[in-house]
Amino acid sequence: MRLVLVGPPGAGKGTQAQFIAEHCGIPKISTGDIFRANVTEGTPLGVQAKAFMDRGDLVPDDVTIEMVRNRLAEPDALEGFLLDGFPRTVPQAQVLDDILLSTAQTRLDVVLELVVDDDEVIRRLSGRRTCRSCNHIWHVDFDPPKVEGVCDIDAGELYQREDDKSETVANRLEVYALSTAPLVAFYAEQGLLVGLDATGPVDDVTQRAIDALRPFEHEQAVRQAAAVAAAPGAQPTSPG
Ligand SMILES: [Zn+2]
Repeated sequence: MRLVLVGPPGAGKGTQAQFIAEHCGIPKISTGDIFRANVTEGTPLGVQAKAFMDRGDLVPDDVTIEMVRNRLAEPDALEGFLLDGFPRTVPQAQVLDDILLSTAQTRLDVVLELVVDDDEVIRRLSGRRTCRSCNHIWHVDFDPPKVEGVCDIDAGELYQREDDKSETVANRLEVYALSTAPLVAFYAEQGLLVGLDATGPVDDVTQRAIDALRPFEHEQAVRQAAAVAAAPGAQPTSPG
């Protein structure tokens, strides 16, 4: 299963990426993890990326793409993967197609889009309160501390991060919609896009995702069986 996961900030993408990858038995590959790994290991790409990040600049496309290309060439990713955070743009999606075609003569199986309406995202994110001393995140509706504004763990003061303020969230959603719409349209055109209702409890969303992916897993199993049967020296199997 070769899968790309897209979704707005606040859709629970990181959590779902983890669960779905575990269910499918494929590595979860996120650009954040790749950046950190390259920086920690001090690879030439990591050194380049760190220079940009230290200046507060975005890591340029060609550096990101090379990191993704290297990661996809690792043995655990050859039979499948879940990509989170890449591609973000149509040109990146085209590069991904080229990488898959040139290195493994294959293509993506499915692009799963987590769909949450903006009001729900704003409610989820703007209700978050972070502890100043231990950084634990509480939620005024979903996970409130016993005493309003005070951390249960260490009695630290709770505050709302700038990122979680509703104006900031609304702005991030707008940026996401503008930048992702062409990517989603690109994949819809190729018949790869599956939209998934990502509201409600985390476990329900995971179950919905697994159900939505089942036909693609089946398709892949059929393709693999066909490839084995077509391989030289394969014995024809009788039906039933
Ligand atoms: Zn605390």
